Amino acid sequence: MNAQQIVLASRPEGMPTADNFTPQSVELPPIKPGEFLVKNLWMSVDPYMRGRMIDRKSYIAPFAIGAPLEGGAIGEVIESQHPDFPVGTKVSSMLGWRSHYVSDGTEHTALPQTPLSESHFLGVMGMPGMTAWTGLNRIAKLQAGETLFVSAASGAVGSVACQLGLLMGAKVVASVGSDEKAQHLKSLGVDAVINYKSVDNLSEALKHAAPQGIDVYFENVGGDHLAASLDNMNDHGRIAVCGMIAQYNDTAPTPGPSNLANIIIKKLKVEGFIVFEHWQHYPEFAKQMGQWLASGQVKAEQTIYQGLDNAAEAFIGLFQGKNKGKMVVQLNN
Ligand code: NDP
Repeated sequence: MNAQQIVLASRPEGMPTADNFTPQSVELPPIKPGEFLVKNLWMSVDPYMRGRMIDRKSYIAPFAIGAPLEGGAIGEVIESQHPDFPVGTKVSSMLGWRSHYVSDGTEHTALPQTPLSESHFLGVMGMPGMTAWTGLNRIAKLQAGETLFVSAASGAVGSVACQLGLLMGAKVVASVGSDEKAQHLKSLGVDAVINYKSVDNLSEALKHAAPQGIDVYFENVGGDHLAASLDNMNDHGRIAVCGMIAQYNDTAPTPGPSNLANIIIKKLKVEGFIVFEHWQHYPEFAKQMGQWLASGQVKAEQTIYQGLDNAAEAFIGLFQGKNKGKMVVQLNN
């Protein structure tokens, strides 16, 4: 059968553009014993994919020019000669950016029965939710009564970090790129929200939003957000360094904040992490998150683009603030 896929046509210079992506049609072989055919239903676009478009050594290999892109996806088995993946099984894989594919089951997980839309296994119940949980519990060790600052706070990771922070008994301060996003976070109970695009001095705005200072900063953005947090951290504060999206499209090295000495003066602990190194804790996270979602204590949010043809636009939209909650693409194959 014919499958559609998106390949990396060229490496982006700065902000990715539509020309960096090419749709392709490929003929799939018939399945053999031990294999199954998957029709993808949902695919994820994530900021880390921008890093994989650069030809450099990192924690994960770069995408190759001319090869199909990869990323989280949820699909349905539509033909099978594999005993563990019968027809109708919903599977999670890293084989997004394509309509169909043949698998032998390697690195595939059958999804549990759940009342949730399967798409949430790419968001709040999947890698981004697990990232928020890991950063707060395992890296920053947030305590009740502390003040948490979250940047990119209405996105996939940030919106979960805010909600978990509130559940853990923290005062939560957030930063987002629009008034609408700010209002939305306030409706979820976030104590103070800054629209970073509308303030002249982020450090002053943060001081105003958190006059008691910040104990934990969940870092998603870098640059001026890191500098502002360093100005406002309390002694012995912790910074869980999750991402630095403000720098992902830079074409030249960006200077670091000039106030790094605050790490010494305030005796801060600054720790980077990659969620996949913590994946052995996924069952514990999934159990808790399943309960929070069922009880309504955590709200699962997503922005949905339709069709593989719009996947590149959805991906680029991450760097333009087009999403609230998890950005996903629904495939209509
Ligand atoms: P999001 O869903 O948060 O999407 C990106 C959001 O970032 C946008 O909606 C936008 O919101 C904001 N943004 C984009 N560009 C800028 C900018 N220049 N300055 C400030 N904000 C910006 O993405 P995720 O939740 O998936 O990821 C959040 C961060 O976490 C990223 O840095 C990502 O790389 C990192 N990450 C790290 C992991 C790890 O294991 N360490 C795992 C998963 C994610 P707005 O409108 O508010 O500007």
